[in-house]
Amino acid sequence: MSEIYFDNAATTRVSDSAAKAAFDVMTSFYGNPSSAHAKGLESEHILKKARSSVMSAMGFTPKDGTLLFTSCGTESNNTVFFGTYEVFGKRKNNIVISDSEHPSVEMCAKELEKKGVEIRRIPTKGGVLGLDFAEKAIDSRTMLISCMLVNNETGAIYDIKALDAIRKRNAPDAYLHTDAVQGFCKLPYSLSCLGADLISISGHKIHAPKGIGGLFIKKGIRVPARIIGGGQEGNLRSGTENLPGIAAFGMAAEEYMKEKSVRLELLKELCSHARESFEKNCPYVLINSKENFAPHILSISVPGIRSEILLRFLSEKGIYVSSGSACSSKNADNRVLSNFGLDNKRADSTLRISFSKYNTKDEIDTLIKAIDEGNNTLIHTV
Ligand code: PLP
Repeated sequence: MSEIYFDNAATTRVSDSAAKAAFDVMTSFYGNPSSAHAKGLESEHILKKARSSVMSAMGFTPKDGTLLFTSCGTESNNTVFFGTYEVFGKRKNNIVISDSEHPSVEMCAKELEKKGVEIRRIPTKGGVLGLDFAEKAIDSRTMLISCMLVNNETGAIYDIKALDAIRKRNAPDAYLHTDAVQGFCKLPYSLSCLGADLISISGHKIHAPKGIGGLFIKKGIRVPARIIGGGQEGNLRSGTENLPGIAAFGMAAEEYMKEKSVRLELLKELCSHARESFEKNCPYVLINSKENFAPHILSISVPGIRSEILLRFLSEKGIYVSSGSACSSKNADNRVLSNFGLDNKRADSTLRISFSKYNTKDEIDTLIKAIDEGNNTLIHTV
């Protein structure tokens, strides 16, 4: 059975070049970057090169700040929340986030709430960040403003630049963080233009392996060390670096830089083709993502059919999609879709189709036929 993979917002296939970069580090350039001999220096060079490649794919140079390699986007987000609290916790009392953050932000906020921090959540109904609310919520006692760039369940793009403008007016010394795990390499502009002090990214969403992430830290911003020991990563994250993952992340970022316009064009074409084909062939399908959302995520609802049932039906045919988001599907949590404005019935019948450079229009046609077959044969229960 051939496989069709439409779950690229959950994770992507590692590119051949990224896999080779990791393989080469494991088998040939296996020195410890902290060792003083030639084998160590060779590895240190690989580490530096990868850092520079990922930073330049984000639109930064070393004079803008530093990129801390972490184990994943979740760790980057945790570092931001607990680090910021350590810096400001005694002087400031609130954090402003959106109401549709990934659990790796939402749960950190909840944890700090237990310590007495007030969490203010900006509404994101219809995928639009409530800037009027933000204007009132961000004040001189705000320590951190944290808002994702692209929503992982709907593809909505949030206006981080507008948040920066509000921060500058209302809370100039608060940190501005964006979780750009879904936005990195998926939008035509670079992350450097957003005005954020802290930016989380993750390798496995851009064809690098799982287990490698990054946190950009703007020059002058202090986030205390979370893992202490040998002083690696500028004393911010001790422990011998995951050099195979780092080299692969660097390679995936370089490939993105080379193919940027072709890749973005392809994602847009795939997304438009899917929209048009659903409208033409399955008019009962409700499309939740709007035209101006990120091109790699398309959220749809198939009224009456519980998403897990349709997901399994498609999976048996070798077609892989997600219900809502990979994380929330396991926890039966409709928080994000409900804040987006979907009622429970519609949220329960929502699928997330997410594209990458490896997908084709033919695969979309096969998916649409399979969804139509599912609609005609499966029992409608919601
Ligand atoms: N933030 C967003 C928006 C995500 O979509 C994800 C993963 O799906 C994460 C954070 C967590 O990233 P990681 O899987 O690298 O921990």
